[in-house]
Amino acid sequence: MMKALVKSRPGPGLWLEHVPIPAIGPNDVLIKVLKTGICGTDLHVFNWDPWARRHIEPPRIIGHEFVGEIVELGSEVKGYAAGARVTAEGHITCGICHNCRAGRRHLCAHAVGIGGGRDGAFAEYLAMPAFNLWPVPADIPSELAAIFDPFGNAVHCALSFPVAGEDVLITGAGPIGIMAAAVCRFIGARHVVISDVNDQRLQLAARMGASRIVNVASNSIAEVMDDLQLPDGFDIGLEMSGNADAFNDLLRSMSNGAHVALLGFLPTSTEINWDDVILKGLFLKGIYGREMFETWYRMTRLVTSGLDVAPVITHRFAADDFQQAFEAVRSGTGVKAVLDWE
Ligand code: NAD
Ligand code: ZN
Repeated sequence: MMKALVKSRPGPGLWLEHVPIPAIGPNDVLIKVLKTGICGTDLHVFNWDPWARRHIEPPRIIGHEFVGEIVELGSEVKGYAAGARVTAEGHITCGICHNCRAGRRHLCAHAVGIGGGRDGAFAEYLAMPAFNLWPVPADIPSELAAIFDPFGNAVHCALSFPVAGEDVLITGAGPIGIMAAAVCRFIGARHVVISDVNDQRLQLAARMGASRIVNVASNSIAEVMDDLQLPDGFDIGLEMSGNADAFNDLLRSMSNGAHVALLGFLPTSTEINWDDVILKGLFLKGIYGREMFETWYRMTRLVTSGLDVAPVITHRFAADDFQQAFEAVRSGTGVKAVLDWE
């Protein structure tokens, strides 16, 4: 048996339970989980909001951001050994749909996510297809490897369009927005402006690479555009808040022909001014997950080239203290919280 954080029944809350250690198939490995990151999605599941009710069927072990150590290999697994430190792409793809066969696995029509459609990583052990593993180089700390999943979201967005020498607007200074600001800065953007309504998060974004922060509760992006002498707007927009007002702010602030990546999960009721999209000839790109496995190569190389996103981890807790960890993230005092399962 093992300890696991389970959404055992509908309704708010999560419960630390003793459940069977997962069985592995011939192409899987069994991983002893070392550390896990708490994602905004986990918070949705904790709160049991409409998004969670649409996507989770209890009972379910939740969590998808993790690092661990291989303890057992299925009979068909090649190229890995027990003891290897790994994280993994949490979207398990079908391998046989058009997109999968064309090498666009991030667009698989039948992807299933750990901690969502199947059991996840908030547990002492996790079964994972060997195909999804990402070996962690020795010089990357476990804590950082534990948040490669959201870091990958940030990298996937930031590398979607050529950023060098461009002016970038990021709406939402959550962990992903902040890491995206760090990436854009690192790869040579000119202005990296980030908005939020939380000063603490904006301050961290400034320390990690944003060249200008905007608290939209008291200031406007239009003022910043005046200040920076960007009358025509930004070249690249990254929507990372999931907030409808932020999305409208962003569309309004784009230059003609600008490129926009949409990562935040916007409410289905979100209304926008379509003139901002159509008359300005904007390119909108929805982003889900990470490219398999191009994003993983790139983020690993960015880290080994000197990009430091570790400061986004503001809180650390033992797995038993998960309530405090979720509270830190929920209240916005924390940005990224990591749970220790050792
Ligand atoms: P988060 O919820 O921690 O961050 C969102 C931030 O937006 C918060 O800091 C919040 O204060 C801020 N915000 C709220 N209103 C705002 C406004 N009007 N203007 C600017 N900022 C505002 O989330 P995160 O973990 O950083 O993830 C970002 C978003 O991406 C979330 O919506 C999350 O659900 C989504 N997500 C999408 C994918 C994907 O594959 N598409 C993957 C992971 C997360
Ligand atoms: Zn597929």
